[in-house]
Amino acid sequence: MKITDIKVIVASPGRNFVTVKVVTDEGLYGIGDATVNGREKAVVAYLQDHVAPCLIGRDPGRIEDIWQYLYKGAYWRRGPITMAAIAGIDMALWDIKAKAAIMPLYQLLGGRSRERVMVYKHVGGLDIAEVVDGVQALREQGLDAIRAQVSIPGLPPIYGTGPSTDQAAGGMVQALPTEEVWATHKYLPLVPKLFEALRDNVGWDVHLLHDVHHRLTPIEAARLGKDLEPFRLFWLEDAIPAELQDGFRIIRQHTTQPLAVGEIFNTVWDCQQLISEQLIDYIRVTSVHAGGVTGLKKIFDFASIYHVRSACHGPMDVSPVAMGCNIHVDVAIPNFGIQEYSGYTEATHDMFPCAWSYERGYLQPGEAPGHGVDIDEAVAEKYPYAPAYLPVARLEDGTLTSW
Ligand SMILES: [Mg+2]
Repeated sequence: MKITDIKVIVASPGRNFVTVKVVTDEGLYGIGDATVNGREKAVVAYLQDHVAPCLIGRDPGRIEDIWQYLYKGAYWRRGPITMAAIAGIDMALWDIKAKAAIMPLYQLLGGRSRERVMVYKHVGGLDIAEVVDGVQALREQGLDAIRAQVSIPGLPPIYGTGPSTDQAAGGMVQALPTEEVWATHKYLPLVPKLFEALRDNVGWDVHLLHDVHHRLTPIEAARLGKDLEPFRLFWLEDAIPAELQDGFRIIRQHTTQPLAVGEIFNTVWDCQQLISEQLIDYIRVTSVHAGGVTGLKKIFDFASIYHVRSACHGPMDVSPVAMGCNIHVDVAIPNFGIQEYSGYTEATHDMFPCAWSYERGYLQPGEAPGHGVDIDEAVAEKYPYAPAYLPVARLEDGTLTSW
């Protein structure tokens, strides 16, 4: 079998998606996700100009060799654009191999290690009462794990806390980045009150999660972790930026609060210290941003040695293709933790017919050969690329800050 064509399809059925289609001379083709939210066209150019010409005529079955060829062969290693381009190709190659074997992808990864994949969904609200109502509503829909975020009184809603984050049509995403306001001293005393109210109202039989969006310093995160200990959170996510992996040691010294990080990591090298020193409990890498199925497996296998569990990033801009790959990995690996799942717009589902399914808080990979996700190119043509960016954040005095 030989690769004869590599198409890159950009479409925006609510969010922009960059989708790779690898075509072979035997009629089989594979689909991959290469979306980097807000930087989509950089990956398109990388794939079209620098990757596709090198792969025409190659054997699509040599997945590891092609992964190494694109990773080592570029000389410029790692980074979100490179690794998303590699991911798009890698997912498509696994799709082709599993279709050729007439097996669902998880069978090639060693078969099932569990019967179903637990997900968490998000609830945001302008005040604590609104969040409590939202969490109760998701409990009634069968969710066993829920992420809760609340706006800070006196400040405008920030990303992840407004009620519209998970809504169709892009939520808070704008054509140019909006600017939000952040105040740590107003946030820190508020969060324990949120989780106290949640435990009082929804009890202890549900996993509650919270995302800090990289907004704290290590000692501030340590304080928050201690204050949240009585409410037994499943995890505290992205407490600090992780370029400086040592920072997590300070948090760890002060609190037993489980920690999660890694949704913007691209390789095992971005979390090598965090994992080998057991400074985190969940690693949040996702197939599209961490080198595809091959990249994800390398990271999760490494993490399994150190008691670190998987928790793939899964917002709306991780396309149904990457979500499908995540679910196949989730169901196969021994150290699965949880899968983030925001759901998709109806237009997104129309564009990506898929074999995986969601029901009452749990996902199934489906039994279709391959990863089970296709792209309807006629539908994609109806939704042209629309420039969109995530917001940026500033302190009350105007200083640009992390989020
Ligand atoms: Mg997050």
